[in-house]
Order: sequence, then structure tokens, then C-alpha cells
Amino acid sequence: MPHVLDVRGLGISFGGLKAVDDVSFSVERHRITTIIGPNGAGKSTLFNLISGALTPRSGKVMIDGVEMTRDSAEQKKAAGLSRSFQITNLFFELTVAENLRLAAQLLEPPSRALLPIRRSRRAMEKTEQMLERFALAHRRDELAGNLSHGDQRRLEIAVCLASEPKILLLDEPTQGMSHADTRDTAVLVRSLTEDVTVLLIEHDIGLVMSLSDHVVVMHQGRKLAEGPPNVVRSDPAVQAAYFGH
Ligand code: ADP
Ligand code: MG
Repeated sequence: MPHVLDVRGLGISFGGLKAVDDVSFSVERHRITTIIGPNGAGKSTLFNLISGALTPRSGKVMIDGVEMTRDSAEQKKAAGLSRSFQITNLFFELTVAENLRLAAQLLEPPSRALLPIRRSRRAMEKTEQMLERFALAHRRDELAGNLSHGDQRRLEIAVCLASEPKILLLDEPTQGMSHADTRDTAVLVRSLTEDVTVLLIEHDIGLVMSLSDHVVVMHQGRKLAEGPPNVVRSDPAVQAAYFGH
């Protein structure tokens, strides 16, 4: 079976800056792979290249063994790749349940995709399932814009998952969260691997160490190291570049 995601020699420049430079790695199914690196290392740009928000100058992106380097974000989404953003992509003026139903509507075959949302049974069922699983049922009719920051981040993950992707890309899901919310999110992300493969960008190093199966370290656009969290952490090059000692 092919890897759910393969990245080969991926690169892009902005002006003279090589934001992502010849980066390769593979993502194992039902594992948590985490990308770490200092601010400006190229992590979000790498997500943009993988997800189709940006087109790479060089290299390949394979999803489930199929080369999709230059396919659009919509095509990659249809192939099973879903991503969250460092800045939210929720519809703040819609309710929690409506945000979920919109995302779950993708489960309908194209011939039914334009049905009024209320008549899509699969989308309705999926919405209920997500509300339960993400402990958002009591907030279902609240506008997404009125949720607490922690609940918004959780809803965002639920929205990404509602279309039943094969691989979920989460860009700093715990950013700005309290300690308690961060811990809850870690438990939640771990539980996701029953259904989906997770590729994570995370800055909380404690969380990275406890949560990840595999870590990819980025520095100045390049991959500096990769491996199991404890191995990566004791790598001298990583220590120097990232932990600053
Ligand atoms: P990270 O997510 O690791 O903090 P980014 O991928 O956001 O880093 O950015 C990597 C580098 O690329 C930074 O120097 C950033 O300023 C630059 N960069 C990112 N996006 C753009 C863009 N659209 N245009 C120009 N420069 C960009
Ligand atoms: Mg970033």
C-alpha cells in the first residue's frame, strides 16, 4: 500500500527567498507526523504546497500513491486531503451545526451535492456525530463567531473531519489556547488517528514530544532532521538550530 502522503523534493521561492527548499518526507497511515521548526522555517508554506493553495516550483506531492502536485486545492480535497488554517476558516455568521453541515455536504455524490442542506441525510447524520464527538452539541445553535477561542479551534478540526478525509493537515491547532484546552486538544488529536492520518504543525514542544509518532524538523526552508521524537530531540543539529543550545 502506498503512503497516504509522499512529498518529494518540494520547493518554492518568494523573490530571492527559498521558503521551502528540496523537502522530502513520507507520512505513515494512522500516525501523527509533526512538523516543527522556528518561526519562518517554512512550515505553513509547506502546508500550502501540499494542500494546493500554492503551486510548487519543483518536486512532487503524491496522495495515496497518485501524483497530484499541480492539482487544485479542491481536487486534493476530493482526493481526501483536508486542512485547517493558522487563521480560522470557519463561517462566523453561521451556527456551529451549519458549519458542520456545509462541510459534511461533500459526502454527498456530486449529483446530490446541490440539494438544500436540510435534505441531505448523510450530512445531517455526520453533523450529529461530530457535535457529539467534539463535545459541541450544547453549542449547536450558537454562531461560530460567538464561541470561545478553544471551542472555535475544536469546531475547525471537526469541520475538517466532517468530509471524512484520509489525511488531515492541522496548522498549530493549539495556538492561543489555555493549558487545559491544549491538553484536551492533544487527547482529541490522538483519538483522530483511529479514522484518519494526521499531519500537524505544532510549536508546543512538550505536546510535540508526547503526541507525535514521527517528527520532521524544518529550518530556513530545509528539512534539518526527521525521526521519532526522542531521537530528533537529541540530534545535535536540531539542538543547535531549534532549541538554541
Ligand atoms: P512558518 O510557518 O514556519 O512560520 P512560513 O511558511 O509562514 O513559516 O514562512 C516561511 C518564509 O516564507 C518566511 O520568511 C515568510 O516571510 C515567507 N513567506 C511566506 N509566505 C509568503 C508569501 N506569500 N510571499 C512572500 N513571502 C512569504
Ligand atoms: Mg506558520
